[in-house]
Amino acid sequence: MSELPPLREVIATHGLDARKSFGQHFLFDLNLTAKIARLAGPLDGLIAVEIGPGPGGLTRGLLATDARHVIAIEKDRRFLPALEEAGAHYGDRLTLIEADALEADEAALTGGKPAVIASNLPYNVGTPLLIKWLKASPIWWSAAVLMFQREVADRVVAKAGAKAYGRLAVLTAAIASARIGLKVPARAFTPPPKVESAVVVLHPLPAEKRFHDLDALEAVTESAFGQRRKMLRSSLSAAASKAGTTAEHLLTAAGIEPTARAETIPPEGFFRLAEAWRMAKG
Ligand code: SAM
Repeated sequence: MSELPPLREVIATHGLDARKSFGQHFLFDLNLTAKIARLAGPLDGLIAVEIGPGPGGLTRGLLATDARHVIAIEKDRRFLPALEEAGAHYGDRLTLIEADALEADEAALTGGKPAVIASNLPYNVGTPLLIKWLKASPIWWSAAVLMFQREVADRVVAKAGAKAYGRLAVLTAAIASARIGLKVPARAFTPPPKVESAVVVLHPLPAEKRFHDLDALEAVTESAFGQRRKMLRSSLSAAASKAGTTAEHLLTAAGIEPTARAETIPPEGFFRLAEAWRMAKG
């Protein structure tokens, strides 16, 4: 089988200049993309769902694993011909979907088979996509390997008490464990973004350990972290009034000191607050 051309050549042949509006920063180092593809552990027999394959660096990394199939969702149709060539090279294990990932129904695409998400995410849609996958019912993915800008990655994995701890860490902790798998310098991308990046590795918690009501959790965390320097008896009042109750009532029900501040409360405390909020709202 003849070799696939280097990615820089693919870009030149197909005239694929990087577009800012699509958040395009490409990875050309195939050693790096192979490493990212393997961060979730062995992919034997799994489906890999890739968001934003672009010219296909990470796609090649995924196809080179034992994943049974790769489904790649790309919004910019200019990349499809180059991706088709990569798919043919790896024994037709690649399905290309031209779509906006925010609107894609991944569970339907994978047909309920075990799947892993892998993505060098467009920065502008990274957080909404993560929230969409955390809210998925049922959780159709068994692992996710996601590139974020470093500051967002820190907010996803942060623990209580850390500067980066907030709404994103609590929402993530409700559904999954999260760790930084790899830090990636800006110079690894073409063109280089202004900030550093990091790959976050997520694994869903066992179903009985998840806190499923993310809407209630969003309501209390938005209120609590919206005024993170204030005591919870004050910062929670916006969420409390939406549920027709008081911050004191929610805090008593959750067993949390009214004088505590949001950044010191571990995720489990917010799960209890969200439960109390849901009960009050009726
Ligand atoms: N994965 C490639 C790589 O590592 O070289 C490209 C990464 S680039 C940061 C982000 C990719 O996501 C681009 O190909 C862009 O066109 C695509 N993209 C942007 N927004 C998207 C969306 N809403 N849905 C699907 N793909 C999107």
